[in-house]
Amino acid sequence: MRARRVIEVAPKLFRTVVGDIGGGTWRAGIGSIGPKGVEVNGYEKETLKFGSTKELLDFALARLKHFDLTGISTVVISNAGPVDKQKGTIIKITNQGGVEERNIPLVKEMSDALTKFAKRPIKVYLINDAEAGAWAEFGPGGGLNHLKPGQLGMVLIVGNGVGGYLMELAEDGSLIPVPGADEPGHRPVPASLVTKLKLWYLGSYCGCLLRGDMAEQRDPCLEVLTRGPALEKAFQMELNDPSVTNQQVVKMLYDNDQLTQGKILGVLMNEALLLARSLDQVQRGLELTKGKMHITPIGGVGCGFGNWLVPLLNAVSRQNANIARPAWGISPEYYVAGFDPDFTNLVGNTVLAARK
Ligand SMILES: [Zn+2]
Repeated sequence: MRARRVIEVAPKLFRTVVGDIGGGTWRAGIGSIGPKGVEVNGYEKETLKFGSTKELLDFALARLKHFDLTGISTVVISNAGPVDKQKGTIIKITNQGGVEERNIPLVKEMSDALTKFAKRPIKVYLINDAEAGAWAEFGPGGGLNHLKPGQLGMVLIVGNGVGGYLMELAEDGSLIPVPGADEPGHRPVPASLVTKLKLWYLGSYCGCLLRGDMAEQRDPCLEVLTRGPALEKAFQMELNDPSVTNQQVVKMLYDNDQLTQGKILGVLMNEALLLARSLDQVQRGLELTKGKMHITPIGGVGCGFGNWLVPLLNAVSRQNANIARPAWGISPEYYVAGFDPDFTNLVGNTVLAARK
């Protein structure tokens, strides 16, 4: 038998250095795209502490220099807060107190310093962390990777707050923001529903200054009822344990205590009901011609409970009489996130770098 010679052309391995400035955590690694998809190696995670812009830039620069920059020409950094992509600046530090300075020129400072360090040009890009999340989950291995051009996808961030960005996938693979679906966390939930679900103890004060008040029948924001800390408080009340954490609750779901599991799933069911109801209203607000929203919850909380929360979100969207409209066929559909929340933004930064 004649041996068949297969000539394999190894796909070009793309490599970049990626960093993420989170609310209180710095993450970084070497992102690569090769035959096995997107990978992040040399992962580093550290508590982020700084009292000035200079300290922040020095901190990030020192960490980026940990990596072997041989053959690397791009560095992509995501930031948990508003950025100006064109100018390459952090508009304002929102998650760290004490730094009042605005329009921090991160891209210029970093690219000058890294170019000097590597002795050749290194291009630095800065993006918002929600955009990083979208590039990860729309990309290979992500929860929204099945989408076809023209379809709509949203990464729903369920963390210390509740956020989300709706994007349309373009023919060329880029993501176009779709207006009309911003700030899902600040949509009001009717006080009557909150009272019916006995959730008023979760709090009613939101950072956006929309004040819920049960006595006055004023509606609270979705965020104060469904963000990670609210979910934790609900578990603590339901399980009669004031110190239990979300991380511990996730583990309990895999134990064999059915009574406890029932209580936990009851809390998650309410979480799903509130989220699904609000996002269904977002969907209703869009023109029908835009098609249905495909949604992947990300963030520490969203991902931690993703395997449980996503089926509940889908069940509520299809079965709840106040939400489901099977005849329309456009109820939002939910998908489990593709990446561990520690890696989502770094993966997204890698996908974006490869497109530059
Ligand atoms: Zn609000």
